[in-house]
Amino acid sequence: MPKRFLAFSAIFLMAIPAVGEQDWPLHGGSQTNQRFSPLNQINEQTVSRLGLVWSQELGTSRGLEATPIVADGVIFTTGSWSVVFAFDARTGKLKWTYDPRVPRERAYFFCCDVVNRGVALRNGKVYVGTLDGRLIALDETSGTPVWSVQTTDPAAQAYSITAAPAIAGDKVVIGNSGSEYGVRGYITAYDAETGKQVWRFYTVPGDPSKGFESKAMEVAAKTWHGKDWWKAGGGGSPWEGMTYDPDLDLLFFGTGNASTWYRALRGEGDSLYTACILAVKASTGELAWYFQTTPADSFDFDATQPLMQADLSVGGGLRKVLLQANKNGFFYVLDRQTGKFLSGAPFVSGITWASGLDPKTGRPIEYPGVGDANPKLLSPESTGAHNWNPMAFHPATSLVYFPARVGTQMVHVPDRKWKYDPDRDNVGIDGNYEGPLFAKMVSLPPPFGELLAWNPVAQKAVWSAKYPVLDGGGVLATGGNLVFQGRSDGILAAYRATDGRQVWQFDAATGIMAPPVTYTVEGVQYVTILAGWGGAPGLMNTPAVGAAKSGWGRILTFALDGKAVLKAPHFGHKNPPLPAITAKQDPQAVHTGALLFNSHCFLCHGLNAVAGSLPDLRYSSKAVLDSLPAIVLDGERASAGMPSFQKILSKKEVAAIRAYIIARAQETARPTPASQRR
Ligand code: CA
Repeated sequence: MPKRFLAFSAIFLMAIPAVGEQDWPLHGGSQTNQRFSPLNQINEQTVSRLGLVWSQELGTSRGLEATPIVADGVIFTTGSWSVVFAFDARTGKLKWTYDPRVPRERAYFFCCDVVNRGVALRNGKVYVGTLDGRLIALDETSGTPVWSVQTTDPAAQAYSITAAPAIAGDKVVIGNSGSEYGVRGYITAYDAETGKQVWRFYTVPGDPSKGFESKAMEVAAKTWHGKDWWKAGGGGSPWEGMTYDPDLDLLFFGTGNASTWYRALRGEGDSLYTACILAVKASTGELAWYFQTTPADSFDFDATQPLMQADLSVGGGLRKVLLQANKNGFFYVLDRQTGKFLSGAPFVSGITWASGLDPKTGRPIEYPGVGDANPKLLSPESTGAHNWNPMAFHPATSLVYFPARVGTQMVHVPDRKWKYDPDRDNVGIDGNYEGPLFAKMVSLPPPFGELLAWNPVAQKAVWSAKYPVLDGGGVLATGGNLVFQGRSDGILAAYRATDGRQVWQFDAATGIMAPPVTYTVEGVQYVTILAGWGGAPGLMNTPAVGAAKSGWGRILTFALDGKAVLKAPHFGHKNPPLPAITAKQDPQAVHTGALLFNSHCFLCHGLNAVAGSLPDLRYSSKAVLDSLPAIVLDGERASAGMPSFQKILSKKEVAAIRAYIIARAQETARPTPASQRR
């Protein structure tokens, strides 16, 4: 049986006792989602001896975001395409693997890479949500499916699943993703043993003429305006960040943006319950309370970041609170029994969409005009000041540790001609904008990333550790006065929890997004983490992310005196491209192709055709360039994850994209050596 974390609290670090065998049984380490382990064999004195014990390749160059679950010496994790792996924690030997065979041609509807954030474990079963919307229970010892349910209707709407399932008592709960495409979000609870549906909670109302499923939907419908607003699905997909409080029987989760992003296009109103933190009764699925972090969101400020439970002295006495570092740049402290707003403060500088929060209600005080349909430059950008990357809490310091993205900017251009179309994304951005805001954005100081140690009571940073890249990964805090965090340049670092002094680092060769976990097997403390760079920032590969390292994805495990040497085969191109076609391309076609590429292709093949983890098209052979219509329109490579764009692009537009790719290869080509010049 998996051992469960002991309830743990300590005022002073010295009071932290040595502990026996410890697993990492739940996504957030324990029910509180604090990602704190009392283990202290690896501590600020011994951490210099921390070394690699083993690593295993996971057969991917895509983003890896999973929190491994560890029980009785076995690691359960996911890789790309919702594939599940079980490893022996001591040796790294693969025990079993399970591939749910997600149809690759659905890749168009996965906004942010083919990622998965991990499994859940309960009573001998391993649960995984798949990109095509299934929830599958596997036998813990063999990886054989025990039951499988289709939790979404992929034919009706563009749903996907990237989150780890949550365990709430005898139920397993799963949400979904897809608000960028137009879906109606919901979470569903299933009997963990049988897979039978117990309840479903929708996050946004459906067609009012069909009646409402609950009072909560009736209330929400009053906050939606505009013509036929329900036809675009509404959005509000709960795509990450569930946590369960068994004492209150409450399940907490956040929801994504509305479909479309822009209220100027979908209709004014708060659009409940999008960009919102909600609590539902786990036994019945009824809404207990909600707190909308970004009412009438127009900026993709999903409230799906991890929600952490803590008991803190705030607002007059010890309160049961819920903590979140939101995409929108504000850190929230809510009463988790009632949803009451206790405090909120900006954790990054340079926020340009709101001047602050109403101290009583927590409602953002927007700057005038930010929600209208005119083009505008706003900070933070849509990836957020903090995203899904998990945060950790240390009971001895009472600090919350999380990665912050400071000074990110985005040009928002609502497409006034936007109309809901189920075959394409429904973000609502006008890709033809060529105004001065991009030049203004480039002229601003570049964004940067830092690990923040945040005092949630005082609502201020106690220390920060700036890193040389924008994106930091998830965080782990331990009884050894340590905070572990990886980042996009492949460095896994350990800092002292008390003052942020870096005391150890390891170069994993591939960028890290996922959080580390720690546990013991036969008295030895291990640290395990997945290294794999991708997700939305990795695939878009914008210059702002800095020296992020695309590479082969792997799982790594460390312990004191580990002596293994990391084998990291080279990834990517060593030299600039040699253009396969040297003929000068029609400038008008190149210009059109540039706009099309940076509207449709850059999400995977990189902004301005400079790719990260997926094929860099500037290196395309003549054969590939000549078969571009077959690849892009006819879906020739759909089974490899390159979907057909037949419903989105015309033959003429593909020809323009081809001209642009060729021109980009020529522009960035290796200079001809002097000896070969004529
Ligand atoms: Ca979103």
